Amino acid sequence: MGGNEVFYIKEAIDTNWVSPNGENIAAFESALETYLGNNSKVASLSSGTAALHLALILLGVERGDEVLCQSMTFSASANPIVYQGATPVFVDSENETWNLCPETLEKAIKDRISKGKKPKAIIAVHLYGMPYKVDAIQALSEKYEIPIIEDSAEALGSTYKGQKCGTFGDLSVLSFNGNKIITTSGGGALVTKSEALKKKAIFLATQARDEAPHYQHSHIGYNYRLSNICAGIGRGQMEVLDERVSQRRENHAFYQQLFFGIEGVRVFSEPSEDFFSNHWLSCITIEEAVIGFSSESLRLALEKENIESRPLWKPMHLQPVFEAAPYYGEGVSEALFSKGLCLPSGSNLTQENLERINNVIRQFV
Ligand SMILES: *Cc1c(COP(=O)(O)O)cnc(C)c1O
Repeated sequence: MGGNEVFYIKEAIDTNWVSPNGENIAAFESALETYLGNNSKVASLSSGTAALHLALILLGVERGDEVLCQSMTFSASANPIVYQGATPVFVDSENETWNLCPETLEKAIKDRISKGKKPKAIIAVHLYGMPYKVDAIQALSEKYEIPIIEDSAEALGSTYKGQKCGTFGDLSVLSFNGNKIITTSGGGALVTKSEALKKKAIFLATQARDEAPHYQHSHIGYNYRLSNICAGIGRGQMEVLDERVSQRRENHAFYQQLFFGIEGVRVFSEPSEDFFSNHWLSCITIEEAVIGFSSESLRLALEKENIESRPLWKPMHLQPVFEAAPYYGEGVSEALFSKGLCLPSGSNLTQENLERINNVIRQFV
């Protein structure tokens, strides 16, 4: 926590705005809009998953439709496709950003069209805070006229060519879950450039109540709005977002130094100056053939010392629940999954924590 969160919560309680409405919501949305720039309009919601679901609804995704989705991601990117009764079509990553591979994406688009169905949307993810190849993905979106849902759940504070992640999609998604770079305990947001779409998102998120003195409904609605208490946490968190980004980037610099010159270990880093990652998580890949041990053996060595690390996201096309979904790929995400590791990356890692990590890893290597 930054410190002021409790002040905004107390204000909400003192003024009895303990509801999905109130000043903290307006102030949190306005802080996000200012931070993101680019004429962004923000609707704060109960989760990033809810934001993805509303994005699909706003783009008209319905039963029987197909939606292209990055395979290498957290399941929340793909689940809302299924909520809509649509089919996810998974697409492999490229090796530089670990995000959607433009060549594979184009292959997938062409093949789906040739099979008679043009995908309704592309869900592109900035994995671990690393921006995807925005220009290349955007060019395909324009060429084939398929809108992009930008899953920026892990990438608040990242930029591509100086522009903030969360402003690139036709619709963009943020998450403030407890594990993200800033948190509202649980929460998310939908970002758009259109005031009308923001209004429509809020309308759908508050049970789609038509304007009438009685309860009148001509749409199916959802209870997806963020609470004014949680928005108070978010308001406080916005004051420390830049600090959190620096802390995470310092973690990444620490790992770069730790693994410097060690052949067979790659610290996941920006491929060029165009990319600026918040380094939400610091990750490495280990070439067992070069260095003689696997990422799993390092994970176990850390675990023995009570230091948690985790494999990278297991690609969606390898998940039992998505077994039947179409997939286009060249084996990139499978390889990343088998050799990758997310290292301790909290914004609150102490010097002592870092020294312990350093010692255990150096000794093991
Ligand atoms: C966390 C996350 C989400 C979902 O956000 P919630 O707020 O937890 O629902 C979606 N996509 C990615 C890539 C995430 O990491």
